[in-house]
Amino acid sequence: MYLIDTHTHIYDHQFSLDGNETVQRALEAGVKMMLMPNVDASTITPMLELHEQYPDCTRVMMGLQPEEVKEDYKEVLSVMEKELSNASPASSVLRPPSSVPRPPSRVHYVGVGEVGLDFYWDATYEKQQLDAFETQLDWAKQLSLPLSIHCRNAFDKMVRILEKKQDGGLRGIMHCFTGTEEEAKVYLDLGFHLGLGGVTTYKNCSVKDFLPNLPLDRIVLETDAPYLAPVPCRGKRNEPAFLVHTAQKIAEILQIPLEELAEATTKNVQTLFQL
Ligand SMILES: [Zn+2]
Repeated sequence: MYLIDTHTHIYDHQFSLDGNETVQRALEAGVKMMLMPNVDASTITPMLELHEQYPDCTRVMMGLQPEEVKEDYKEVLSVMEKELSNASPASSVLRPPSSVPRPPSRVHYVGVGEVGLDFYWDATYEKQQLDAFETQLDWAKQLSLPLSIHCRNAFDKMVRILEKKQDGGLRGIMHCFTGTEEEAKVYLDLGFHLGLGGVTTYKNCSVKDFLPNLPLDRIVLETDAPYLAPVPCRGKRNEPAFLVHTAQKIAEILQIPLEELAEATTKNVQTLFQL
């Protein structure tokens, strides 16, 4: 079996003690590729270090997560833009001068992420979030890269921006999709894929009800580790190996063999991210 976790933060400090074992467990479980979206300026170096250690089974994306958009977002975006275009390696910008210098980064970023809008806790930085998101959508278009998009309590504003910006050049994943069937249809019509994760296995998740109506060629799987572990691991620290539980649940709902779901979703990711 070959599954791809399209959204995982295994460079997070929660994996600092068992990062290697986490990757081994993923590979043993059949999760043979892990796509890592970035979060903020501080996560670039740990993410790249993990990718350097596992170049064959991990890929990286660059972006500023909406919850981390603060007053200084323009400076952070400028660091990220340089890193994305490989004009100035993150190592030289972010590492203290005392640390060992690294050779110039030759990192290949497969996507722009994690970007988006999140007004769940508060909307203090709403203006900044909207601006940061639009800027990063422009990067994706300029570089012809797919996106990993985070949207929480912001559906209407999200759709308005995507509709405005979509000129055929935007593609990507609506990560951790948990909306209604109508919302799913809006995103599909806008040309996006739906990222299904641990929440899909939760009892109260309504996505299960209309899952069979969704086109299989537009669904991809994710963990969002260390968050949102699927049943039966709900409440634990999530990790890529747990993707199998989500895949099993979705295959069961769709009444297809697990292997068929794995094959279909893997093909979707490979096409979308040109892996
Ligand atoms: Zn995430």
